[in-house]
Amino acid sequence: QNLQQAYQGWTLFDTEVKAQMARQQLLSNDLHHALERQQLMLHYQPVVESRSGRIVAVEALLRWQHPTLGMVPPDQFIPLAEANELIIPIGNWVLQTAGEQIALWRNQCGRLLPVAVNLSAAQLHDPRLAVMLEQILARHNLPPRALELELTERIMLEPSPALGANLAQLRTLGISIAIDDFGAGHASFNYLLQFQVQKLKIDRMFMSGVPGSSNHSQLVSMIVNMGHSLGIEVTGEGIEQEEQATFLRQIGCNYMQGYLFSRPVDATHLLQQLLREQEAQPALSPSSP
Ligand code: C2E
Ligand code: MG
Ligand code: MG
Ligand code: MG
Repeated sequence: QNLQQAYQGWTLFDTEVKAQMARQQLLSNDLHHALERQQLMLHYQPVVESRSGRIVAVEALLRWQHPTLGMVPPDQFIPLAEANELIIPIGNWVLQTAGEQIALWRNQCGRLLPVAVNLSAAQLHDPRLAVMLEQILARHNLPPRALELELTERIMLEPSPALGANLAQLRTLGISIAIDDFGAGHASFNYLLQFQVQKLKIDRMFMSGVPGSSNHSQLVSMIVNMGHSLGIEVTGEGIEQEEQATFLRQIGCNYMQGYLFSRPVDATHLLQQLLREQEAQPALSPSSP
């Protein structure tokens, strides 16, 4: 009987694995047409300034509206895009779309809202990156602070001459760099100095223990202090509870991002949030005297 159970368990496992593999295969095939069929879209998640609670930027998060599978999250297709060399055209599309969106919001509500874009390693090794960014800024007449690039520690682990050149060009352009998911990877502190990053985003896994666990809280507050002593601004990611926000405000963490403030939303909903904010705090809006 045990044997029979084991066999059933194995068949179930086997079926699940096969289904997973079939799904991966389908996604991998369909991803080649996702761009041309206009199935990709960006959602935007507000980043708020801790002190004022005001939206000061957004992070662009890629979504794939698959015709039969529905909304596919980036964790499920970006690794495929990276493996299939589709990440360069997809990544370029993300940057172009972000630039257009900044210009659109500027027209719609008179505010220049910077957009942070996540980059994959291949993009940072692409010698055309800096020129493209320069063109996007010029096309929409945007200042360099309109775009911010988020890199994970993993990217920093594979230094190359192309990467070094790109980072130098970005500095010249004035586009700032943030280290994403800080603390979750293996990067050494040396990278913070070497790459002259302007911002750190503390990985949201640390937030689960804030402020309940004193170890988690200590670690978060240590990262904030370390960042500040190096002249680096710090964002707390994955803020879901009011207590977490209170703690981050107390320790002087510059920015916060998480479901407590807003989930990632489409461009129209983000505009509504901006307009609502301007109505609530007219004194802060740039269009007021
Ligand atoms: P990330 O850059 O660290 O983005 C934050 C992720 O955390 C997003 O997941 C966001 O929806 C989620 N998140 C935000 N606030 C909360 C919260 O309070 N609680 C929880 N549980 N989650 C929260 P998403 O959109 O699924 O993106 C996952 C990852 O995919 C991103 O992590 C980023 O590494 C990657 N990604 C997204 N868009 C792009 C892109 O255009 N290019 C590249 N190369 N990677 C991207
Ligand atoms: Mg990010
Ligand atoms: Mg992150
Ligand atoms: Mg992440």
